[in-house]
Amino acid sequence: MSGLTFFSKVPALKKWIPLFLVLLFFSLWFPWNNRDSGSVHSSTQLAMGTLVTVSTWGTGDVDEGKKVARIFERIRQVEAIASRQDANSPVYRINHSPQTKHVAPPEALVTIIEKGLEIRQQSQGAFDPGLASLLDLWGFTHGVPEKGALPEQNDLSAWLEKRNQFPEYGIHLNKDPNGTVTLHLDGDVFALDLGAIAKGYALDQAMATMKQSGIQDGLIIGGGDMIIAGSKGGKPWRIGIQHPRDRDKVMAQVEVMGDMALATSGDYERFFMVNGERQHHILDSKTGKPSRSGLISVSIQANEAMVADALSTAVFVLGMEKGKALIEQLDGVEGMLVQENGERWKSPQFKGQWLDEQKND
Ligand code: ADP
Ligand code: MG
Repeated sequence: MSGLTFFSKVPALKKWIPLFLVLLFFSLWFPWNNRDSGSVHSSTQLAMGTLVTVSTWGTGDVDEGKKVARIFERIRQVEAIASRQDANSPVYRINHSPQTKHVAPPEALVTIIEKGLEIRQQSQGAFDPGLASLLDLWGFTHGVPEKGALPEQNDLSAWLEKRNQFPEYGIHLNKDPNGTVTLHLDGDVFALDLGAIAKGYALDQAMATMKQSGIQDGLIIGGGDMIIAGSKGGKPWRIGIQHPRDRDKVMAQVEVMGDMALATSGDYERFFMVNGERQHHILDSKTGKPSRSGLISVSIQANEAMVADALSTAVFVLGMEKGKALIEQLDGVEGMLVQENGERWKSPQFKGQWLDEQKND
């Protein structure tokens, strides 16, 4: 079962079930609504520490079961590479090795780290793929710590001090002239945690696998991330975005036809309370603490789930103003942002509507 600890949400799985049901409710067309020809077939498994649902629209293909099995298999392959809890994974081995240089890491890992470093740069460090040791200090190693406690101030200061010894960020990918990639980590303070990006990559790969198998209309959901293709027999897929402070309430609805990825990051997914303060799992590497940018929910629409996943975390840490600026600067990226004080914003091309505004539109 070690693979299931990937993003460590299993202990918090209960929290996901209402969201999952809402998503399913919005995404399913019951057969009697499809008099024309097809219907939605959904199958759910536990993968990457969360519930993953593969939904396809069609008229019933005898090989459908095999095709869906292949999609889940692809997700598990990515999980086996990018998990930092699984002692057999390359990420685990890299994080626990005394060496600082790693020659020819798996291609999938290179793709994820490369994109992670790019988004780190674009977000001025708000997205940081090297926070494993900081997450461990907070107890976010395997899900939410059972007895959540603040880390020792000394440990936090030591972490920040070590980081400050490296004015240049300490994770580097180099390609030599014959194409071999080497990954360099400058010291223990830089250890990989790909929890905010690898799930998106896995969904991109899952969708590619779906399309290669000949299925053109589908929706794959993994926790707060999803990837969409085609339509439900000419009708849009409909997805609900959960209210960040009321898990039984849908805050916004997205209707999509065609290819699109959507990811939501919030402070309500994995957290514990200390002194009335929410200690959640998205950390700000500048303070060493859970991000307090004022944002409580960020949804990002993009072409790739990997990008949507990482950017939702980046914007969450950047806050409303800088987050908006980053969304506006990037091509093909749209967003929906909610602050604790109730202020909210969505970019003009975001394919979703606030539910309380729908009647007026
Ligand atoms: P989720 O995985 O819960 O959908 P995110 O995509 O926002 O939410 O990812 C949060 C996870 O990313 C954390 O559990 C942790 O593994 C990692 N993480 C936390 N803070 C950061 C950060 N500032 N940059 C990159 N990854 C982070
Ligand atoms: Mg993310």
